[in-house]
Amino acid sequence: MTGGLEGYDEVAEANAQKSILDIHWSRICARLKAEVGEVEYNTWLRQMGVGPVDEDEITLYLPTRFLRDWVRGQYGDRLGALWHAEVPAIRRVELQVARGASPATDGDAPSAGPASAAAATPPVAEVVAVVEEPRAAEVRSDLAAPLDPRFTFDTFVVGKPNEFAYACARRVAERPSSPGFNPLFLYGGVGLGKTHLMHAIGSELVREGRVSVAYMSAEKFMYRFIAAIRSQSTMEFKEQLRSVDVLMIDDLQFLIGKDNTQEEFFHTFNALVDAGRQIVVSADKSPSDLSGLEDRLRTRLGCGMVADIHATTFELRISILEAKAAASGVEVPAKVLEFLAHKITSNVRELEGALNRLIAHANLFGRPVTLEATQDVLHDILKANNRRVTIEEIQRKVAEHWNIRLTDMSSARRSTVVARPRQVAMYLSKQLTSRSLPEIGRKFGNRDHTTVIYAVRRVMELMEQDPAFAEDVELLRRMLES
Ligand code: ADP
Ligand code: MG
Repeated sequence: MTGGLEGYDEVAEANAQKSILDIHWSRICARLKAEVGEVEYNTWLRQMGVGPVDEDEITLYLPTRFLRDWVRGQYGDRLGALWHAEVPAIRRVELQVARGASPATDGDAPSAGPASAAAATPPVAEVVAVVEEPRAAEVRSDLAAPLDPRFTFDTFVVGKPNEFAYACARRVAERPSSPGFNPLFLYGGVGLGKTHLMHAIGSELVREGRVSVAYMSAEKFMYRFIAAIRSQSTMEFKEQLRSVDVLMIDDLQFLIGKDNTQEEFFHTFNALVDAGRQIVVSADKSPSDLSGLEDRLRTRLGCGMVADIHATTFELRISILEAKAAASGVEVPAKVLEFLAHKITSNVRELEGALNRLIAHANLFGRPVTLEATQDVLHDILKANNRRVTIEEIQRKVAEHWNIRLTDMSSARRSTVVARPRQVAMYLSKQLTSRSLPEIGRKFGNRDHTTVIYAVRRVMELMEQDPAFAEDVELLRRMLES
């Protein structure tokens, strides 16, 4: 319906004149759109409006707190850089929530949305006047990557699979370089929180202002090392690295097969540990399983504390979803969270991505989150996580749901407590598998196919009469559905 700049052009028209700031903004929007792609742009950025400039800071508006936080986290730095490139006087971007910034979500009278904000935009002469003498840009040490402020211990949800790694990380953040915890080696599959924990350690230490921390991916380490060799500044590189109190290298498996970089890392590692500095390393496997790393490096990596993060459990997934939903401020029904936790089991990143998308939709369209909407909005993700469902799985899920024994699916017991779930399982088997009625009957304790027909009819009747029951069955169906 609308391209990226149209909402923006309307604003300009409404204000009768297109201020110079607006022109900058439209250029920035075009750049952003080209960089992130149409879909991402439309999902997250399109509704951003430009607000006033105050000294070196420009305010941008977003319609909801969630969008603001998201945009701040994902695109904050980039927005700052783009604005600075357009208008050198602008060094900072402030993101604010302004109701009315979204055309679709509410009928409230816009208060400080982009329309009125643009009207309040100072003429560009004032903006330029701010640029008297460009201050040295805040240069972050080129050595390390910045820490993501969202990845803290507070936002890390602890459960059985990650409690040990979490405890070790906390311990290192409290008392770096303790014997027995140096190096700290965190390992586990992708998307399970290794990077999160490393950033949390870093942020905690930096917050206390006690030590200098350098965090970087192994890839960046290599890149920096090669660049240093090219520019004949390896000495400087080495010195920089050896001057930090805590060095964290993420995704060490990247160094496999990169012998020179590995060698350099090995020396840095030894120098730091010998000097009583803390090393934190992450990888996708344990030191002993990282074949391809030099033996002596593997040995040293395993000398401190080795902590693994296991695959998530259902309970942990639920806790994470609850925490993230609560932080978003959008009401997500427990059934939806349960559904997601059942369906998306691969890793936390995917789980988070799915929830974020749901929340974004709810915010953008002002609709409540329902199971139905969830299926719609996430159909691609869900499809990727789908498998063929079997009668055994159906029986297991249904038995779990109503808390009966799995054996009762094929037992002769006829009390409603077990007969009803059994009927539901038959109904779902008919709906979700291609098994014939006699085949289904056989799987349920050799029952006759007419029993299955009866069960299917009975469940359909009950679903008509009893909405709560219908919802239960629907939930089960969605969980199982392929
Ligand atoms: P890894 O480095 O192991 O691949 P990340 O640390 O990048 O994984 O985690 C992926 C995403 O999942 C991040 O957004 C992170 O914040 C989130 N995440 C992972 N584990 C947890 C957890 N236990 N609690 C909250 N968020 C988590
Ligand atoms: Mg990572």
